[in-house]
Amino acid sequence: MKEILAVNRVLASGRLLRYARGERSYTARFETAMARKFGVDHVLTVNSGTNALITALAAAGIGPGDEVLVPAYTWVATALAPLAVGAVPVLVDIDESLTIDPADIERRITPHTKAIIPVHMLNLVADMDAILDIAQRHGLKVIEDACQCVGGIYKGRRVGAIGDLGALSFNHYKNMTSGEGGAVLCNDERLFVRARMYHDPGSFIRDHARFNEPLFAAMNFRVSEITGTLLHSQLSRLDSLMARLKARRTLLAKAFSNLPDCHISPHNDPENALGLTVVFNDERAAELLGQTRGVQRLIETNRHVFTNWEAVLCKRSFDERMNPHRWAHRDISYDPADYQTTLDVLSRTCVISLRPDLPLFVLRRWAKSLRRKATRTLAYLSPQAAE
Ligand SMILES: *Cc1c(COP(=O)(O)O)cnc(C)c1O
Repeated sequence: MKEILAVNRVLASGRLLRYARGERSYTARFETAMARKFGVDHVLTVNSGTNALITALAAAGIGPGDEVLVPAYTWVATALAPLAVGAVPVLVDIDESLTIDPADIERRITPHTKAIIPVHMLNLVADMDAILDIAQRHGLKVIEDACQCVGGIYKGRRVGAIGDLGALSFNHYKNMTSGEGGAVLCNDERLFVRARMYHDPGSFIRDHARFNEPLFAAMNFRVSEITGTLLHSQLSRLDSLMARLKARRTLLAKAFSNLPDCHISPHNDPENALGLTVVFNDERAAELLGQTRGVQRLIETNRHVFTNWEAVLCKRSFDERMNPHRWAHRDISYDPADYQTTLDVLSRTCVISLRPDLPLFVLRRWAKSLRRKATRTLAYLSPQAAE
C-alpha cells in the first residue's frame, strides 16, 4: 500500500529521472537512509544485482588479465560479472556452510588473482574474517555478493558493507524488491566516485560533476525514481523480515535437532542466522527428503550449480575478439573433477524454506511433520536397519 502511494507520487510529479531532483530525489533519500542503516559511507543504486557486481569490479579497477575468485555454488551472475570487465572467473569450492571455502581460496590464488567475490547464499553469511585476512595477506580486493542476503548480519555488521565493495540485488526474489534493482556499497570515496561514474554516461553534466577522477567511458545502469521510491518505502520493513526469518529458523531447526546421520549446516555467525539448511551423511536421505514440499536438495536447484553455467564453462563471448580468456595469463579449467567437494556438499544438503508469510502455528505443525518424515527416512536408510 505504502508502495502504491509512493509510486503514484513519483508519477504525478512527472520527474522520473533521479538526477532531475538532485539531492531531493527519492533515490538519493533511499541511498542516504540505507547508508545509515547499513553503517556504510556510500550507497549507489543501480538497475540490477548483476550490474552492481560489474560496477563494483570496474570501480575496483579489475580488468583484462585479472583472475577473480568466485564460489562454484552461486547464481551465474557472480561468475559472469568478471567477464563483463575483461577478467576471468576462477571457481573455488564451497564448504558445508554453503559459502566459499577459505582454505580452497588459498589453493586457487595465483600471481594473477586480483579479487575475491564471497557470496552470502540463501541468507547464509560467508566466513568474512578468514576471507578478509587472506585478502590482506595477498593484496586482493573483496567484493561481497550479498544479493541473496540483503539485511543479513555477520558479527554485528551488515553483509555487503564489510568488504571493499558490496553488491545487493532487489530483484523479484530478494529480501527487498523493486522488481529489478541493485546497489553498490562502499566506504572508500574514490571507489564510490568511480562506481558512480561507471553507472552513468552523463556524470560530467551532473551537479556532482567535480571530482578528482579522470572521466572514463561508462555504461547506463541508473535507476528511475520509481525504483528509488519503491526501495525507500521498503527499507523500513527489512528488519521485521529479518526478525521473522530468525524466529522461523529457530522453530524449524528443532525439527532436525538430535537426529542421527544429519546436522544443521555450520553457520559463520550462528547468532544471526537467517537461513536453514541441513546436511545429511547419505545423499539418498537428502534426495528423499528433498521431495517434500518446502524442502529442496541443493544439487537440484540446478541454475545455482556451476555445472549448469554453459556460457561460463564454454568460455563463449558475444564476439571472440572480446573474449576475456584471450587476455588471461593461463588456461582456466572448469573441470567438475576439480570441484568434487562442492558437488558432494550440494548433493547431501537440503534447504528448508522458512515461509515468512505463514503464521507460526501453521509452521509449528509443519515442523512436526518434517521431523516425523526425517526420522522415518533416516531410519529407513540407516545401516543398522538394513542388518
Ligand atoms: C540475484 C543474484 C544476483 C544478481 O541479481 P540480479 O538483480 O538478478 O541481477 C547475483 N548474485 C546472486 C548470488 C544472486 O542471487
